[in-house]
Order: sequence, then structure tokens, then C-alpha cells
Amino acid sequence: MATPADRQTYDLLVDGELLEAQSGERFETRDPATAEPFADVARGDEPDVDAAVESAEAAFEEWSSTDPQERGRILNRIAGKIRQEQDRLAELETRDNGKPLWHAQNDVETCARYFEYYAGFADKIHGDSIPLTDEYADYTIREPLGVTAQIIPWNLPTNIFGRSVAPALAAGNVAVVKPAEQTPVTAVEVGKLALDAGLPAGVLNVVPGYGHEAGAALSSHPSVDGVSFTGSVPTGIEVGKSALENVTNVHLELGGKSPNLVFPDADLDAAVESTKTSIFANAGQVCSAGSRLLVHEDVHDEFLDRLVQRVHEITVDAGLEDPEMGPLVSEEQFEKVTKYLDLGREEVGEPVVGGETLDRDGYFVEPTIFDGVETDMRIAQEEIFGPVLSVIEFEDEQEAFELANDVEYGLVAGIHTNDVGRAHRFARDVDAGQIYINEWFAGGEETPFGGFKKSGFGREKGLDAIDAYTQTKNVCAYIGRE
Ligand code: NAD
Repeated sequence: MATPADRQTYDLLVDGELLEAQSGERFETRDPATAEPFADVARGDEPDVDAAVESAEAAFEEWSSTDPQERGRILNRIAGKIRQEQDRLAELETRDNGKPLWHAQNDVETCARYFEYYAGFADKIHGDSIPLTDEYADYTIREPLGVTAQIIPWNLPTNIFGRSVAPALAAGNVAVVKPAEQTPVTAVEVGKLALDAGLPAGVLNVVPGYGHEAGAALSSHPSVDGVSFTGSVPTGIEVGKSALENVTNVHLELGGKSPNLVFPDADLDAAVESTKTSIFANAGQVCSAGSRLLVHEDVHDEFLDRLVQRVHEITVDAGLEDPEMGPLVSEEQFEKVTKYLDLGREEVGEPVVGGETLDRDGYFVEPTIFDGVETDMRIAQEEIFGPVLSVIEFEDEQEAFELANDVEYGLVAGIHTNDVGRAHRFARDVDAGQIYINEWFAGGEETPFGGFKKSGFGREKGLDAIDAYTQTKNVCAYIGRE
């Protein structure tokens, strides 16, 4: 339990300085394992966002014209600092977000990897030459956007910080980050480490605060040239609209209700393990969770028996105890998920496993599976963002693929089968930005990530993120005919 002595205090990071909010207001985050206050954080709002954007604008010329090799070296040093502080950052993340320590360690490592991976791109961002007639020399230059804004959700705070910020800086942009109000702590910490690593003041600013205050001020700011938003669909729509008011480049990484298909020819043991991870990792609070299990009628009973047995073995405890699954992030999320447990009971009856909250302080919910779900039910259509799996049975491939596509989201889709043709027909016919074959959550910094349909547009990760954070300038010169 957090005592006043170990209560953490965090400020804004603007222009290389740790500052109070101009209003002097602060807000609290809670440790999800105890529901006790954990951190006391400066509550950024419009004037603080203005100051952060101004400091970023002032830093842009120097950073964008810094030798790309030097930009890469600085990003590599940031990765090194994150690694040196990995244990401390992971513990802070666990206390702020609730996730098990092993998962927080992975997230911090992933953040470091994003800085390393994009460090390598810094001196490899270049345009093309385009053959016109002999009378012309034509070439393109890829230029940074300028001031970029990164609005981050609470489920993978350190990971998504790295994912959104590292490519922006590698491409010569400057950044203003608005972490989620539930989990702002590691963003400020990584921002401080970046300064220690030699990143010039103003290149990376962090403004914690509420979405409707700091978030709205940032996404609607006329001097912001690019917005990367990761979060829910309703907020994404608001952010998109306010960015477009200023004709600001925006990309939206939104939610999902992803199908995970199991055919009788699959390696069922591997499929059980993959299914379990797909929905219960991070207590189901993952945009790419496999929250709809579509299982063939011939293996439905056997598969579910094995999965339920495995779910009984999942340990649920405070993240610092390093269980397989920790609590949900907040009281609000706890209430949302428990409402879906009630709804599931109304729609299909008792779950085959789980369905209860834990009788202790904190926001703990059991890993839960509802069987006999129909595709038009709300628990099959809506993103619960908790450890709740909906199981739907199918008869054949055609029905399975139709069910897979029968949601408004299109973030991820996975299939377990040993039929190579079927796996690739699935990849061809199912609308999702990521396809997993006999796997879930594969692919790291290198693989482009983003949504089809209501799961958003634009891509992060891989080379695509560099494209998203740069704009193309075409240069055409008349050189004559001598
Ligand atoms: P959210 O939309 O409530 O908040 C996300 C961020 O937006 C937070 O920083 C919040 O403060 C800010 N925000 C809220 N209102 C705002 C406004 N009016 N203007 C500007 N910013 C505002 O989402 P959440 O609950 O934090 O995260 C969960 C959602 O994120 C889920 O839907 C999940 O699927 C999605 N998600 C998507 C991805 C992806 O890569 N596609 C990754 C992680 C999470």
C-alpha cells in the first residue's frame, strides 16, 4: 500500500524544465492493486500546452537541422538510459497501471527498442529521383512535419510512448506528449532520461493532464503540425475533428474486437496457449486482444475444456507480486467491465469460468469466458477492454470468415490452422490491419501496425511510422538540353 512517504510527485516537463501547472492544480493517480493514491501530478491545461508547443516550435529548427547521425546517436543514448533504469521504470509502471512486473519490464524494454530501432532510421530517410524528360532533374525530399503531438492511452503507457515518440524524433520532428491521466508517471520519467541523454530542451515536452483539458488543447492547437492519437473510437473522432479544423495531419490508432479462429486441424495445445495470451494478457486491456474466439463445432467442446483448465491456473494478484494477471487500471474500468459481466449473464447466462470480482481492495476481476455467444449480441460486438472472452461456434470456413468480419472494428485477426491455403485465404478475405497465423501478438517495432474500419487509419511502427511523420516535397528543375 502506498504511504504518504512513498507517494510520488510529478510535474510537467516543458522546455527542459520540470514545472508546476500554471494553474497550480494537481491530480492524483491510484495504485490499482490497492485503490490507494499513488502519485500526485501537475494538472496541465491549455496555458501549459501553449507553453509546451511554443518551446517545441523554438527547438524545431535546431533539431531538424541536426546531423541525422547525431540524432540517431542521441536516440540510442535514450534507449541506453531507459535500459539502465529498467527495473525502476517497470516498478513505477506496475504501481501506476497495475500490470504484472514481468509485463511492465517487457513494456520498458519495448520502449527502449523503439528508440534503438528508429535511431537506425535517422540517417536513412531520403527521397527518390524521378525520371522526367532529359530537360528536367526531379527529386523528392522527405521533410519532418514540425511540432507533433502524441496522445497516449493508459493500457501500455511506456510502450506506446516509445512507439509514438521515437519515430517522430528520428525524422527530425519535435514532440509534445499528453500521457493518459490514469498513468502519466513513466512519460515524465522517460522525458527526463531523454534530457539526460543529451536531447536538447524543448525537443520533447510532456504535459500530463485530463483529456478534455490538456488533450483537447493539444489536438486543437493551431501550431501543431501532426497528431498521433492512440485511444478509444469516440475520443479519436473528437481528436480527428479538432485536428482537421486546423488541417493538421492526424492518425488514429483505435480500439478492436478481434476474431481468433480455431479450426480442427490446428495444433490445439498451441492454440489454447495463444488464445489464453490473446485475451488475458494485461487483463484484456489490449487494443489487439483476441476478444472473440470463433471455434469450429467439431472441436468446440474439447478446445473449451482445455482452455478453461488453463484459465483456472492463471494467478491474479497485485502486479508487484508478479502474477500472470493483475488488476484493471482504475475504478472506472472496473465498473465498465463488471457491467459487461452482468450483460453477458443477461445475454447468454453464467460464464463457463470466472465472472466474479475478487473480494479484496483494488480493481480485480477474474478471467472470464462466456460460451454460446451469438454474433449480434453486445458482448460479441463491443470492446470490453477487460479479461472477458466471447466464444462463438461455427460450421465451416465461409461462416467463420463472415463472422470474423462481422464487427465494426478491423484491428487484428488471427487464425489457428495447419491448412496453408486456408490461412492465406483468411489473410486475403478478413479486414484487419494485422493478421496472425498460428500466433498472437507477434511482431515488434519492425511491423506496421494500425486499423481497418473503425479501428482507425494511419500506421505506426516499422518504416510506415517514418512515412507518417514526414511530408514529401517534390523538386523539379529545368536543366535545358545542351
Ligand atoms: P481514451 O480515448 O479515453 O483516452 C486516450 C487518450 O486520449 C488519453 O490520454 C486521454 O486523456 C486523451 N483524451 C481524452 N479525451 C480527449 C479529448 N477530448 N481530446 C484529446 N485527448 C483526449 O482511451 P483509453 O481508455 O485511455 O484507452 C483505451 C482505448 O485505447 C481502447 O479503445 C483501446 O483499444 C485503444 N488502444 C488502441 C491502440 C492501438 O494501437 N490501436 C493501442 C492501445 C489502446
